[in-house]
Amino acid sequence: MPANPSPACPICGRPSQPATRPFCSPRCRAVDLGRWLGGTYAVPGEPETPEDRDAE
Ligand SMILES: [Zn+2]
Repeated sequence: MPANPSPACPICGRPSQPATRPFCSPRCRAVDLGRWLGGTYAVPGEPETPEDRDAE
C-alpha cells in the first residue's frame, strides 16, 4: 500500500529517503539539526565555522 511512499523533506520538500528520513539527504538532516542546535537557520552545504584563531 505505497499510497504515501515517503513524506516530503521538511527542509527542501523533496521525497525523503529511508536512510535519512524524514529528510531527503544527510545535508537536509544536518540543516535541521543545525537549527535546533544553533537556533538559527544554517546554510545548507557547510556548517558554520567560528573563527578559531590561535589564541595564547
Ligand atoms: Zn531535503
